[in-house]
Amino acid sequence: MNKLGSLFAALALMMLTTGSALAADTADTLAAVKAKGVLVAGVKDSTPPFGYIDEASRKIVGYDIDFINALAKRLGVQVELKPVTSASRMPQLQEGHIDIIAATMTKNPERAKVIDFSHAYFITGQKFITKKGTITSLQDLEGKRIGTAKGSTSEQNVAKAIPTATVLSFDDYPQAFLALQQGKVAAVTTDEAILAGILAKSPNKDKFEIPHVQISEEPYGLGMRKGDTNFVAFVNQALLEMEQNGEAKAIFEKWFGPTTPYSLERTFTITAVK
Ligand code: GLU
Repeated sequence: MNKLGSLFAALALMMLTTGSALAADTADTLAAVKAKGVLVAGVKDSTPPFGYIDEASRKIVGYDIDFINALAKRLGVQVELKPVTSASRMPQLQEGHIDIIAATMTKNPERAKVIDFSHAYFITGQKFITKKGTITSLQDLEGKRIGTAKGSTSEQNVAKAIPTATVLSFDDYPQAFLALQQGKVAAVTTDEAILAGILAKSPNKDKFEIPHVQISEEPYGLGMRKGDTNFVAFVNQALLEMEQNGEAKAIFEKWFGPTTPYSLERTFTITAVK
């Protein structure tokens, strides 16, 4: 074998043995995942209860992870979780480092030009965390500094909703919340379910609140590569089955039910809506 030949052989072997995600230009992730025996998912690791590190097991757990586990079970493959941020999740998918995004990601027409989304598997809306008693309406945030995460819809929505505000974007929401605790921002904004998770984990949660001020609706979709038709069809079918057999509701109850620190109502069902 010449030099180039052995380089290719080494590369091929590396790809086979590392269990890495599918190369970005390969079309059929469903077949590839089955062949390699592992589903590589991009997930959040500091966004309870969607994806965060469980203190006892040191493993990433959460609502998003349970959907990935359910898909992997149906496929009969292992799961590999790779932490992503709001800003890095689409590039990670497109570059082939992950097979699927399950990371509190809103499906919207702008993003759907770049990647494909599953049916919505969670629905929430964008709100704010503030110091108790400081904000009762959107007007109270005029001209204020507001923290959020880079690459999120939260960042875009708040800039539109309060053009006079200064938006400070962090890598993740815990960093934005730290800025609020330090008095560097007047509010943190993102999806209510994420804010509820941050608040529940905060040691000084009594000082903060989520006022009844909502600026958008955010349906979450699982993100897949554009045109990955077989994989999208498989994932959508699985989600609809999970809705029918109660699996999806059970995952919701596990993370948001009345005995959890978050306690939200399930106001949606998974349906085959674009
Ligand atoms: N769901 C919103 C988004 O996809 C905010 C949460 C996040 O940053 O992941 O951008």
